[in-house]
Amino acid sequence: MRLFDSMRQDGFEIPTGILSAKPSHEPDQKTASGCLSLDGRIAAQWVRQLCAEKVKSWGPAHLAVILASDDPASRIYVNHKIKAFKEAGMSSSLIEVPAGMVSESALVELICQLNDDPSVHGILVQLPLPHGISQTKIIESIRPDKDVDGFANHNVGLLHQGRLSRALLPCTPAGVVVLLGLYGVTLHGKHAVVVGRSAIVGKPMSGLLLHEDATVTIAHSKTPDLKKVCREADVLVVAAGKPELVNRDFVKSGAVVVDVGIHRTPDGKLCGDVHPDVTGVAGALTPVPGGVGPMTIAMLLLNTLRAAHLRQRGR
Ligand code: NAD
Repeated sequence: MRLFDSMRQDGFEIPTGILSAKPSHEPDQKTASGCLSLDGRIAAQWVRQLCAEKVKSWGPAHLAVILASDDPASRIYVNHKIKAFKEAGMSSSLIEVPAGMVSESALVELICQLNDDPSVHGILVQLPLPHGISQTKIIESIRPDKDVDGFANHNVGLLHQGRLSRALLPCTPAGVVVLLGLYGVTLHGKHAVVVGRSAIVGKPMSGLLLHEDATVTIAHSKTPDLKKVCREADVLVVAAGKPELVNRDFVKSGAVVVDVGIHRTPDGKLCGDVHPDVTGVAGALTPVPGGVGPMTIAMLLLNTLRAAHLRQRGR
């Protein structure tokens, strides 16, 4: 089943191609070379607005966030998520466990309490966890119907079986499919190449693209001649975690390029896994920042709302 069809079944009507028809007052999103910028901020705002409307009629959807590390970046991510929930009229609570005091058993017990709390619809454990705590054990202790990150075995299985209407899907790859759909990028019959095979981005991304009827190639750090593989892509999704790994030599003329990577450069700026020179050859590119990142948070809202709604309907 395709993602937009499964969302429609759940009551989220997302029109495809709505952002490709640019209103006349919008600045031109094309570069001089004709490369379209797939603006994740605009697309995410669209999803967040949809969630804000749905929560009014569907009733409350509450996210519990567990922050168990001193990592400053994790705190920034958590604050962004909580702010987004507030802005959409959805509730969230932050449970902070000081990194020095956290143990695996205490975290599992906390998650069990949240699992049993009917006022909590989604549980998110901000990763990474402190050294010595098993990420797998913690994720697997979250009830599958509250696993709004979509990382636990149950939801991973549903995704790869194509049972999308029953799954909570990982926010970043699902956000990529929604972003492309809002811009009217056709995936059916296209050759999609995904660079990266991680459990949270690369693998679920490949599964979702397959369900959109793309022909999917997964490339990774052991792939010989990455450039050649990438140049065959109509749609190239790069999630390698390597700053500006992919440049114009990797991109076929007119290809759609999605840059999942995000890195802080020594001079404090942000960059992705894709070099900006691809705008000279690609047909469309997600910017960094302002591409995939905002979609990830928007999809967390949507997942939490879906989790609440699915439970209400006993699915
Ligand atoms: P990861 O390190 O877990 O996985 C990276 C993958 O890329 C691996 O499978 C590896 O085989 C592959 N890879 C590494 N070097 C390569 C190379 N030279 N050639 C080909 N393949 C190579 O990373 P991840 O968690 O999947 O994240 C990837 C990137 O996406 C990171 O920059 C991360 O910060 C970013 N990210 C962004 C968001 C967002 O919301 N924007 C969300 C998640 C991850």
